[in-house]
Amino acid sequence: MKTRKNQAVDLYSRGANSYKTMIRASIILLGIVFLQACQNSPEKNSVIKSELGQEHPNITKLKDQSAEFTPEIIKLNENVYVAVGYDGSNTSMVIGEHGVVIIDALRALGAAETVAEKFREITTKPVQALIYTHGHNDHTGGASAFVGNGKNAKIIARKGFKEELEGKSPVEPILKKRNARQFGRNLPAKDIINRGVASGSTSTDRVGEGYLEPNITFKDSISITLAGINFELFAANGETNDALFVWIPSLESLFTGDNYYKSFPNLYAIRGSQYRDVKSWGESIKKMGSLPVQYLIPGHTRPLSGKSIIHNNLNNYSTAILSVYQQTIDAMNKGYTLQQTVDSVKVADSLLQQSNLQEFYGSVPWGVRSVFLHYVGWFDGNPTNLYPLSSSSEAKHIIELAGGGNQVLTQLNQAINKGDYQWGLQLADYLLQTDFKRTKVINAKIALLRALAAQQINAPARNYYLSFAYELEKNNLEPH
Ligand SMILES: [Zn+2]
Repeated sequence: MKTRKNQAVDLYSRGANSYKTMIRASIILLGIVFLQACQNSPEKNSVIKSELGQEHPNITKLKDQSAEFTPEIIKLNENVYVAVGYDGSNTSMVIGEHGVVIIDALRALGAAETVAEKFREITTKPVQALIYTHGHNDHTGGASAFVGNGKNAKIIARKGFKEELEGKSPVEPILKKRNARQFGRNLPAKDIINRGVASGSTSTDRVGEGYLEPNITFKDSISITLAGINFELFAANGETNDALFVWIPSLESLFTGDNYYKSFPNLYAIRGSQYRDVKSWGESIKKMGSLPVQYLIPGHTRPLSGKSIIHNNLNNYSTAILSVYQQTIDAMNKGYTLQQTVDSVKVADSLLQQSNLQEFYGSVPWGVRSVFLHYVGWFDGNPTNLYPLSSSSEAKHIIELAGGGNQVLTQLNQAINKGDYQWGLQLADYLLQTDFKRTKVINAKIALLRALAAQQINAPARNYYLSFAYELEKNNLEPH
């Protein structure tokens, strides 16, 4: 088992031997150019938007992931069709003897109407039921495209459906900003690759306008005949606490909702969200893995066929999630602090190298932090952190210790030259607590965020770095 740091080094050496030298050379140039530019005026920031030369292997992988969202109606067997890539998520049609059942309903009514039309080209049988796998609006907003006003259809979900998502959060303003950054909603098209498990831009045609309330709900599980086919639905807390999965024994078909897709799972969303039950998530996947699944239809990314590949994928997925969970718990019980816990949790390379566990959307350390905070809250157990110095006071001490602002700036540039971008960012943040050469430091931070984005496999992190860089550029001050 290797450390994450070693993995990163491996990626460099495996994928592109010359890459590290090139990116460093580019960033040194960048550093020189931006320092020169800043002598004159901040408008010249655009100079530092330099091409970093050769593409990092992580970016190539993330670009390849976009193939998962090519719009297509995929026929899995005579009864099951999946619409992939028409919006940010998938919607499926199960054809029974006298009618059809829809599973999930996309986000934008416009996109849902397009898919409903395509489904009708396959069969004109009436839609008898709609099942929501969970309450996130990318799975619910286009319902009326499939079932009209819903009066003649069963609309099925779990008890407590959408409850935790309803109501305005008191921190809604900042959640909105963070959401836009995570999904890269305000990024120029040239900067967008994708959102990890969805394409980089999704339909804006009447978002959420087709949503219909469920008229049948259940608590733990339900076995129900719909359109002449027996459906088994199981509660499965994971990405949300209203999540379920659908199993159709006669068709050997499993609909996982968002507890499974082709990426390491997003155990924590950096846009800011309530706790996602990591233990239950892992266990729900384990349960799915015990079924004889021939067809797996995820909430996002393309479906899979074949018992053995599906069994392996589900197995790897649940092992990875439960490993993150258990290692975090063990580290906490040893008295580790939050950062020590993050540093100590390692998911085996043999798992993280699997194609379905690449960190395109979720990220291991974010999951660790989430579990830690869920169980003990903000205090990490180290008394130093009971009453830490204020940010500005800490920065003042550190800058003094380093021999003054110029010294820190020199170190910052060295960090850039060495490729220690994270350290560079942390130094920049100390300086930004003061007014020391503010424009210069902000420009350094912008360059560092873009340098990190240029090697980041995780789409939310990449989008966030780039969005924040643009905000800094626009505001020329720390955004709040
Ligand atoms: Zn989703």
